[in-house]
Amino acid sequence: MGYEIQGNTGVWEIVVGLEVHAQVTSNAKLFSGAATAYGAAPNAQVSPVDAGMPGQLPVLNGYCVEQAVRTGLGLKAEINRESVFERKNYFYPDLPAGYQISQYAHPIVGKGELTLDMPDGTTRGIGITRLHLEMDAGKSLHNQQDDATLIDLNRSGVALMEIVSEPDIRTPEEAVLYMRKLRSILRYLGTCDGNMEEGSLRCDANVSVRKKGDAGFGTRCEIKNVNSMRFVARAIEYEARRQVELIEGGGTVDQETRLFDAQKGETRSMRSKEEAHDYRYFPDPDLLPVVLDEAFIERIAAGLPELPDAKKARYMEAYGLGPYDAGVLVADRTTGDYFEAVAAGRDGKQAANWVINDLFGSLGKAGIALENSPVGPAALGQLLDLLNAQTINGRTAKDVFALMFETGRDPDRIVEERGLRQVTDAGAIEAEVDRVIAANPGQVETYKKNPKVIGWFTGQVMKATGGKANPGGVQQILKAKLPPVEG
Ligand code: ADP
Ligand code: MG
Repeated sequence: MGYEIQGNTGVWEIVVGLEVHAQVTSNAKLFSGAATAYGAAPNAQVSPVDAGMPGQLPVLNGYCVEQAVRTGLGLKAEINRESVFERKNYFYPDLPAGYQISQYAHPIVGKGELTLDMPDGTTRGIGITRLHLEMDAGKSLHNQQDDATLIDLNRSGVALMEIVSEPDIRTPEEAVLYMRKLRSILRYLGTCDGNMEEGSLRCDANVSVRKKGDAGFGTRCEIKNVNSMRFVARAIEYEARRQVELIEGGGTVDQETRLFDAQKGETRSMRSKEEAHDYRYFPDPDLLPVVLDEAFIERIAAGLPELPDAKKARYMEAYGLGPYDAGVLVADRTTGDYFEAVAAGRDGKQAANWVINDLFGSLGKAGIALENSPVGPAALGQLLDLLNAQTINGRTAKDVFALMFETGRDPDRIVEERGLRQVTDAGAIEAEVDRVIAANPGQVETYKKNPKVIGWFTGQVMKATGGKANPGGVQQILKAKLPPVEG
């Protein structure tokens, strides 16, 4: 997947590292028992700890720690036996305590790896630098009242996992593949719902450019809070081109934080490095270091589900699927389960084709999620059985599928009621073949010079049988009955 920017002075490539904030799936916050449900009335889910009241003490939520370890294991990462919560100090109205509790020098998870599934079927590993736990801040509401900004602290204290990648990503598309794969793994693990619209998954993209072939990195800009897959690619693309133009025009890239304006499709400066905060991190004296024992980690490891990479390998091996199809089917658990139910006891490749092309095609067009599919896996399996038993032919199977999708009914009933069974009576087909040959002497002459005309004869016979004959069988009979091809 080559990607380069042709500048005036040569060819440039992009270097990207992503920092993803994933909200931990947990009913309670990281350091308090307050609820985390999305969409609650403002400030309805705020404990005194989350409001930064003096004298309140944070209590670490063990379930969130478990979720972070689960995620670390899912990313094939080192789990640090000891990690430390620190205070990241800054003033902002949505941060009532004046500091965010985060992890800095000693995160709970260290180096790991995420595998990208490239469109050409190859894979590429992207390094994970670390994963740490931290609390979210509140939210400033600027548009509710003309003369004031309001603060909603519902998010204050919600547990986040910050997952940092190495600067290994080289194209906007790879950044999107990375986000999709990460979301897929988080959902398999059940540690984050991955819902970008609700802000459960947010991404900061660090972007720099360098001349193709250079070994070092250029100065990077960080684009904050990109909140959709589409914007990730657009923001990186825009930012990279901006930097190339800037450098080629004789300027230099300032290390700064930028915002992506989705409306305008451009990034703009938010603050420069000189304005960057000195957060004065120090270990939070209210919280002990987190020490994990082996039994805790082993118990979580033993409970991990089969993850996308392993499932993809299994599908390729057990069903003979290519990497692309297998990758599509393992993207989420529901899809994999559906496919396996259709493929059980049947031809895996055929099942994959019908699920990916026919079912996903129809669902996509109708804008229906797989969970609400009018065609369940059992019904689709029955359709394949009818096809493979030659009760119906391939053409009819497509029609029956369309009817199943439209009506939600079983294929057996549709086939019976509409009389769609394949005509297997050889005598009846032969009679049609004889009739068509006798009625079209001109075409018979053409056939003698051009054997491809057999397709036309097949079509005529199929039409005469209402599309219910077996096209292969019809061709065989035609070949036997037509005169030999000349030359
Ligand atoms: P900070 O602590 O300032 O956020 P880090 O070194 O932790 O900086 O890097 C943050 C992110 O920036 C990481 O995802 C990393 O891969 C990425 N990154 C670092 N250097 C570059 C660079 N030159 N170009 C693009 N991304 C980079
Ligand atoms: Mg950072």
